Amino acid sequence: MVNNIDLLLKTGCAFFLSFLIAFLSFNLFGHGTGGSVSQDEIDKRAINFPDTQQYLTLVTDLHTHSVFSDGHVWPNIRVLEALRDGIDALAITEHLEHQPHRTDILNPDRNKAYEEAKAAAGRKDILIVNGSEITRDMPPGHINAIFIKDANKLFNIDPPKNDKTQEILNERIREMKWGNDLEKEYYSLANIWPAEEAIETANRQGAFLFWNHPMWTSQSQDGVARLTPMHKDLIAKGYLHGIEVVNGNSYSEEAFQIAIENNLAIIGTSDVHNLIDWDYKPHLGGHRPVTLIFARYKNITSIKQALLERRTVIWFKNKLFGLKENLDPLLNASLSIESASYLPGTKIVGLTISNISDAKFLLKNASGYTFANSDDLVEVPAQGTKYLQVKTLEKINLLTLNFGVLNALIAPGKHANISLKIRIY
Ligand SMILES: [Zn+2]
Ligand SMILES: [Zn+2]
Repeated sequence: MVNNIDLLLKTGCAFFLSFLIAFLSFNLFGHGTGGSVSQDEIDKRAINFPDTQQYLTLVTDLHTHSVFSDGHVWPNIRVLEALRDGIDALAITEHLEHQPHRTDILNPDRNKAYEEAKAAAGRKDILIVNGSEITRDMPPGHINAIFIKDANKLFNIDPPKNDKTQEILNERIREMKWGNDLEKEYYSLANIWPAEEAIETANRQGAFLFWNHPMWTSQSQDGVARLTPMHKDLIAKGYLHGIEVVNGNSYSEEAFQIAIENNLAIIGTSDVHNLIDWDYKPHLGGHRPVTLIFARYKNITSIKQALLERRTVIWFKNKLFGLKENLDPLLNASLSIESASYLPGTKIVGLTISNISDAKFLLKNASGYTFANSDDLVEVPAQGTKYLQVKTLEKINLLTLNFGVLNALIAPGKHANISLKIRIY
């Protein structure tokens, strides 16, 4: 009997002890997991745009960094930020050839950031896209390859085999204007493998490739994006599919024009290295730049298909940039007239314009009517309404209001238009 109690106690203790160990292990070794994000946090700052009639509107950030290249956070933090921002698809795209942390974080496997992010995401409602940043001087500059299968095949560290290649390498190291000695050596060595080969390999893996920050002053002194013969050649071969018109804090009219003329997808990304909260201050009403992708379903295949068919709009500092064919359906899904009726004893219609998107719209009156309570510039708040009084002169049954949407561009300097209709009762 005593023995049995003793045994019971021992078993109980063992059970408790294993539970304790499991609990502690989870806490000690769980730093790569996604942690938790409350619904309240998501509600406060999640980026919200309505689906269009034809497609789901997915919010994506396809260019970010973690400690596995020159970013300053572990990949799970990127995932947690993305969950708070309501991001549907996130890519952590590490520089393959720029590895400033490698003395502290050995990084022989370039798929690691993706795998960490994927583990952190777990079953949460976010898609993690496998991608890398092919990092070269101009040309071609930096190119993101996403939907890749194996990042390790996209770079090649091949020490010089003869004096001639050693001399080329030494020359490159001498010419390099940034980085410490170790980084100069590493980056220069990694840059010997031709960019075209990395780009071709990514294409063979079925990747979607876009030119990053073509307006970056380190690679284009005057800040103007220009296609080089190498870019033109890559486009002609079908190897380059998109271009960043927005990167972080930068917008490029020239890149927008290049996208239009060369049938490249219009992409906007955060390229975040620090914290989204520091760089974009969502708690103060800011937002990271995102690419809205119009996809049939919320899955990787549909997103890739949509990108290849260039169904994107950028949201950047409360501006929207996209082709007319993509922007118009988004505007029509976002804005509508809720109700309209004549003010008693007048020929003035009182109506409410509703906006179910996160963009605050600046509308310029382009109708034949003038307004009784506003000039011709009408601001419709994000996720809000605007009350307007329209002088129709005659009593009519069907009212059409035409506006220029000043914060939505379908080409450089060319804003979108919208027509809102309402029956008056
Ligand atoms: Zn870059
Ligand atoms: Zn980058």
